[in-house]
Amino acid sequence: MQSLLVRSPVAVAAFWIGTYLFITLLPLLVLLLHHVPEGRSFWTEFSVALGFIGLAMMALQFALTARINRIEASYGVDIILQFHRYISLVAFSLILIHPLILFVTEPETLQLLNFLEAPWRARFAVLGTLALILLVVTSIWRKQLNIPYEPWRTAHGIFAVSAVALGLAHALGVSNYLGLFWKGVLWSAIALTALWLLIYVRLVKPWFMLKKPYLVEEVIPQRGNVWTLALRPIVYEGMRFQPGQFAWITLDISPFRMREHPFSMSSSGDSPERLEFSIKALGDFTNSIKDVKPGTKAFLDGPYGVFTTDRYWDSAGFVLIAGGIGITPMMSMLVTACDRKDDRPFLLIYASKSWEDVTFREELDTLKDQIDLTIIHVLRKPPEDWSGETGYVDKELLERYIPIHRATRNYFICAAPKMMDQVEATLHDLGVPVTNVHMEHFNLV
Ligand SMILES: Cc1cc2nc3c(=O)[nH]c(=O)nc-3n(C[C@H](O)[C@H](O)[C@H](O)COP(=O)(O)OP(=O)(O)OC[C@H]3O[C@@H](n4cnc5c(N)ncnc54)[C@H](O)[C@@H]3O)c2cc1C
Repeated sequence: MQSLLVRSPVAVAAFWIGTYLFITLLPLLVLLLHHVPEGRSFWTEFSVALGFIGLAMMALQFALTARINRIEASYGVDIILQFHRYISLVAFSLILIHPLILFVTEPETLQLLNFLEAPWRARFAVLGTLALILLVVTSIWRKQLNIPYEPWRTAHGIFAVSAVALGLAHALGVSNYLGLFWKGVLWSAIALTALWLLIYVRLVKPWFMLKKPYLVEEVIPQRGNVWTLALRPIVYEGMRFQPGQFAWITLDISPFRMREHPFSMSSSGDSPERLEFSIKALGDFTNSIKDVKPGTKAFLDGPYGVFTTDRYWDSAGFVLIAGGIGITPMMSMLVTACDRKDDRPFLLIYASKSWEDVTFREELDTLKDQIDLTIIHVLRKPPEDWSGETGYVDKELLERYIPIHRATRNYFICAAPKMMDQVEATLHDLGVPVTNVHMEHFNLV
């Protein structure tokens, strides 16, 4: 229905924002259908309204992280997760302000904090708020608290489910409003949808992945401490994707265990029968790739992402700016262009530490003979006889290489966060329109 109503990407994105606002405000709209209960002050009503909006926002967080393709395809994972982070702070504030208003305007409600004597509806509220505080603290300060990603992810799920379930139990226990039929129906529907999303992510998706297994065909060493993992689908024709997109990989264990990692495909989007991921050894999982044996089972959830040249079919050409392992989505864009005999110009500005570290150095050289590709290597530690670019990808360097008619190209940046921020700001200084700059962050969390 949505595709019938709205077709342009901007309209689709606006449609999802409208849907989000509508669901968030729905509990208030339903409240308006009923008379305000006798003897309740404005501040009591206001506080309840904030609590309802905060709770609806919390429930919607499940939808934001369920990797729903239609939503994800409008914004990209980066933006959705950023929204998830910011909106969780808004929901957290609203939920905290809700009891604070009551404590100030009706001081007798402070007694509800006496956990042992308070009624269950108040205990649910206290426990739910504690779960929410743990959720926020462990997410904002995960690295400072030295919490590794995997246990954090499990705890994050547990805290989130507890906070929403306890919040709903509290709301249902406070019968003033929820005693009314339609409010009960509304909150039950929101709770059931959140539960369904949880089941979808934890059971349905992994089940679909289980039905479409892959086998590791090869593990190829590359320059720069990178290994290319080549996968072949076993029972179906393989995953089609747009060059630059990524997938979540689970290796050698059941997809139900949810120990998956995101990687961009580095192979051609037009060769689904062999998917390649080029992985830099940086941590526990990525260090284990070199030891993976051919024949190992793999499962994929994807493709995801909007970081792709395919979205800009009318672009006169592309400027790809990569740092280190950020070359992988660019590699996929280039080999796909080669497969499609794309004759548009590609400029690749590629920052690496040293000449020996340049991942895909030889492969890129070969591509130069097959498509209109210019490569500018930028080395931080160049060899003595190096006559090319050195140092960082700064304004002076970009000004020298990017085309004069800047708005005719689309620009893709994937690198370390600092380099990405600097290049993005510089491109804006150089007059590249914001809408022509696209970024992929490898550090989602
Ligand atoms: C969209 C996207 C595309 C990526 N493409 C590539 C690529 O082509 N090649 C490549 O080498 N790397 C890529 N990465 C980075 C890669 O996912 C991480 O380096 C890898 O997951 C780290 O796992 P680890 O256990 O080896 O490292 P750890 O030391 O355990 O983790 C290092 C950091 O990586 C992140 N991380 C760890 N596990 C996960 C996980 N399961 N999900 C999400 N983030 C996690 C966390 O921020 C963590 O602090 C990509 C990341 C994203 C988000």
